[in-house]
Amino acid sequence: MSQQNPKILILPGDGIGPEITKEAEKVLQALRARHGFAATWTHGLIGGAAYDDCGEPLPAATLEAARDADAVLMAAVGGPKYDLAPRELRPERGLLAIRAGLGLYANLRPALLFPQLAAASSLKAELVADLDLLIVRELTGGIYFGKRESVVEADYQVGEITLPSARVSRDTEAYSDFEIARIAKSGFEAARLRNKRLCSVDKANVLESSQLWREVVIEVAKEYPDVELSHLYVDNAAMQLVRAPKQFDVIVTSNLFGDILSDIAAQLTGSIGMLPSASLNERGQGLYEPIHGSAPDIAGQQLANPLAMILSLAMLLRYSLKRADLADKVAAAVRAVLADGLRTADIARAGEARVSTSAMGDAVVTALNSN
Ligand code: NAD
Repeated sequence: MSQQNPKILILPGDGIGPEITKEAEKVLQALRARHGFAATWTHGLIGGAAYDDCGEPLPAATLEAARDADAVLMAAVGGPKYDLAPRELRPERGLLAIRAGLGLYANLRPALLFPQLAAASSLKAELVADLDLLIVRELTGGIYFGKRESVVEADYQVGEITLPSARVSRDTEAYSDFEIARIAKSGFEAARLRNKRLCSVDKANVLESSQLWREVVIEVAKEYPDVELSHLYVDNAAMQLVRAPKQFDVIVTSNLFGDILSDIAAQLTGSIGMLPSASLNERGQGLYEPIHGSAPDIAGQQLANPLAMILSLAMLLRYSLKRADLADKVAAAVRAVLADGLRTADIARAGEARVSTSAMGDAVVTALNSN
């Protein structure tokens, strides 16, 4: 990887993807023109756009370009148009395949509440004001990658009960001690850089895989005596997130539980359109994407909030390109436009003026160039 002239692969994907990508590229162009940033970038196909063009959601050329890049900036994939496509060729399979292909096992999802948006949260402002938590989600294992099957069974057994002939589908939640230790370390390392508190979330009272999860996390904790470790069952964790979210610093959890808990954490911040994420591999190479999907309901209407995409670019600058200086500038520009009262529809309160996707991007560039 070359940090002097870094290479970025941009994957606009589907739905609102191309619209929000355009705004992130305006920021990249501003960084290159005015802030001494010597990156180059190219574009690739993923998801439905790739399926339409090449008949598969992750063409080999895209994976090759991703492996060759220092970092990948992706918008989102999917849409109702592809609901009837064969399961293996659906857009979301492209996403799972690029995560697996790059070995991106650690997904970092911050939930940070910008003070100007405290009123947008569905919780009382005092419960969420200054919220700053990080969910570290395991991304390449568990039920999304486990063995799956659909069969017909003559005698279908549920606990002690035998049911008559039935169509049965199974998905398997499987974790090895290696996978658990690796993501636990990511959680402890992240906690070390923050407030040194790590909460491991599992379902160890029921699931075999969660019992191993808990055992291994406790073992790894011995290497991090400076980090306070706690454990919660996932149902309690979901409840605590909406009851008293500020109790958390870093949460580490499995792929499935992390998927659900990070959407709850996102809602605490008021808008899914504000939250970036980073997925990293052992080389520090990363895929950066908003946590939201392709929002087909508002695609092509200039209604999408591009800030999660722009903040994903800020994470890319910080984690993969080691340009904390530029990441701070982008984050400061986002804060400045919010302080100036700019709101896309998703973060506007009743009666507040709303700006378009491109007007929000332009405002971030103006703020960036004026500091
Ligand atoms: P979604 O995140 O796309 O949308 C949920 C709601 O949030 C919608 O009302 C949408 O309009 C709104 N929203 C999302 N992003 C927004 C933004 N930037 N600005 C303003 N409003 C925004 O989730 P969904 O509706 O469940 O899924 C739609 C499609 O996206 C599906 O095909 C799904 O599989 C896919 N998806 C992709 C990813 C990904 O690419 N990482 C993640 C989740 C869902």
